[in-house]
Amino acid sequence: MFNTGKELLNLCEEKNLKIYELVIEKEHTLSGLSYDEIKSKMKNTLEVMKNSATQALDKEIISVSGLTGGNSKKVESYKNNKTFAGPFINGAMAKAFSTSEVNASMGKICASPTAGASGILPSALLSAQEKMDLTDEILVNALFTAAGIGEIIAKNATVSGAEGGCQAECGVAAAMAAGALVEISDGSPSQALNAAGFALTNIMGLVCDPIAGLVEYPCNLRNASGVVNAFISADLALANVDALIPFDEVVEAMYKVGKALPESLRETALGGLAATPTGKELEKKVIK
Ligand code: SF4
Repeated sequence: MFNTGKELLNLCEEKNLKIYELVIEKEHTLSGLSYDEIKSKMKNTLEVMKNSATQALDKEIISVSGLTGGNSKKVESYKNNKTFAGPFINGAMAKAFSTSEVNASMGKICASPTAGASGILPSALLSAQEKMDLTDEILVNALFTAAGIGEIIAKNATVSGAEGGCQAECGVAAAMAAGALVEISDGSPSQALNAAGFALTNIMGLVCDPIAGLVEYPCNLRNASGVVNAFISADLALANVDALIPFDEVVEAMYKVGKALPESLRETALGGLAATPTGKELEKKVIK
């Protein structure tokens, strides 16, 4: 069993297992479910993710409040133009928007780790599948790696925007996705944790300031940028860029930073973008 990144890495080394194999083993021990049952449940999760990440690519899905919607389709249509980030990154952002839009319209998504940040992991996996022609089995294994990383962060810090700011939601989602991408690329367990640590480092201190208190804006933009964060963090780790601060210490720092954020920047809609004049005007329009 493991509760920290260090324990996870030690176990991987001792048992000569990948992160996903240890996570499945732990789940088997805790739940009593067979390996096949555990994998089948995760396959169902993957299907929910695939649906949410593609639903809004070719049709506008407007949120219940009417505040947001249609960005997935816009970016998907734009991705083959002369873009700066190229079709792959633009396509990934469109998929991240898609799940955000499905979520804001009360559709079915998989919280990973939360509903607000639910666009990042599905987009990362699906985009990687398209680019590298991966099987679903590879994605399912990567999801276990993501789950293991998310569990460690939830245990030792927080995955709640109300407690730790958006770094704890979109940051953690990007960390989970970055680790999963390393798994997909057959990177080592320590590279996976380095990638997760980079993703958290890149957005440390990010506040939670949703307009009108609705999980829509800037949440949807942060899902789009979060998946990009995951890709670059995975690549940095796979290139063996030095991770000077170990993953567990990054997680601890993220938690402390979150605790230090004022209440106005922790999902209360009292600060940040929510407190701008336009943010307040929009709030009046959607909350009548
Ligand atoms: S801004 Fe707040 S509500 Fe929106 S995704 Fe980030 S943490 Fe969640």
